[in-house]
Amino acid sequence: MSSQEKNVLVVGGGIIGMVSAFRLAQAHHHVTLFDPAPAKGATWAAAGMVAPSAEIAPGEQSNYELQKGALAAWRDVAHTLGSMTGEEMTIAQTGTLFVGWDASDRRLIEQFAQVASDFRAPMEAVTRMESPELFEGVSPRISEGLLMGDDAWVNPDQVVRMLLNGLELLGVRIIREEVTSIGSDAEHVVASTGTDEIRGDRGILATGAHRLPKGALTSGDNVVRPIRGVTVRVQGIDRSAQPIVRAFVRGRAFYMVSRSGGYCVLGATAEERAEAVLEVGELQRLLRDALDIVPELETANVLDTRMGLRPASADLEPFFEVLATRGWAWSSGYYRHGVALAPIAAEHALQFVEGAS
Ligand SMILES: Cc1cc2nc3c(=O)[nH]c(=O)nc-3n(C[C@H](O)[C@H](O)[C@H](O)COP(=O)(O)OP(=O)(O)OC[C@H]3O[C@@H](n4cnc5c(N)ncnc54)[C@H](O)[C@@H]3O)c2cc1C
Repeated sequence: MSSQEKNVLVVGGGIIGMVSAFRLAQAHHHVTLFDPAPAKGATWAAAGMVAPSAEIAPGEQSNYELQKGALAAWRDVAHTLGSMTGEEMTIAQTGTLFVGWDASDRRLIEQFAQVASDFRAPMEAVTRMESPELFEGVSPRISEGLLMGDDAWVNPDQVVRMLLNGLELLGVRIIREEVTSIGSDAEHVVASTGTDEIRGDRGILATGAHRLPKGALTSGDNVVRPIRGVTVRVQGIDRSAQPIVRAFVRGRAFYMVSRSGGYCVLGATAEERAEAVLEVGELQRLLRDALDIVPELETANVLDTRMGLRPASADLEPFFEVLATRGWAWSSGYYRHGVALAPIAAEHALQFVEGAS
């Protein structure tokens, strides 16, 4: 092992930990990844949108600027993973069609358009009359909307499968156990599971909305709270050649990401709570909104429902904090954008390990 190559411990195998581990291993570091259930956290529920424009929200301009680099960063990851595994990663730059259900929802769209215009996001007003193909499958009572052409999606299930392959090919060791505590001495970092203690040169905590292991000394400037979300997967409508549908429905946010073959992800609920349950009322509201916006979903088959806890920081910005526990850093707070931002998080991890941050 050359002096530049480091042993790196990555705790948490969600999209952030996995892409970070992949990037580090690709840069010839020796990586151990810990997770009792890789990719079954928030990553499991995510729709996979890489949609900076449709994700615009008041006060979140720096987040928008960060996300603008996400698609290019994903194309790099897709290229590298694709040439290693022989599988082509789907990155569908379909854009987003954003519509409102009733007059007050259309008012919310106008307010959104104002913020997006302040951020100088690319968008155009579209109508059913001029562009009927964009509105295919969308309720006939909706005749206008906004098109954000730069938005895209990846399929997290495919991405995770390819990453697991890529990690194996790069010799990353995956330990399917929880890390209960971390620490360090003058020379090493250490991660302890119930059964083992593993040493390395650097450690990264990518534990999403979960509590940090014992021994993680943070500055206190960053905190993470869980914002629970549910998505429903159905089989029925193929709108994969058309934009992602996004809507305000009676004030609630709804989206449908359609993949080829009629597989659609409907989402997403958002609640400030951490219980791993799915309530009937929550599911009913989501499906009612879905049927109002895309009536053809009436006969679609429900495949599964997925729940995840989005890791949200106080200011809703992601962070990469170098901890007071020597040699360790904490990468979290990716909230609604962890899939989009994972390759950018991975670059921070690499800079930390190679000593530039
Ligand atoms: C319903 C829903 C829809 C979403 N849609 C999108 C979207 O379209 N686009 C987008 O960009 N983002 C989306 N997100 C957000 C995105 O899923 C998250 O931002 C992202 O998954 C966060 O990744 P993470 O790796 O930090 O956390 P997670 O995916 O939660 O992974 C954390 C991992 O750490 C492991 N872990 C925790 N503690 C320990 C420990 N002590 N030891 C070992 N392992 C540990 C857990 O088991 C887990 O696997 C969505 C989220 C939800 C809930």
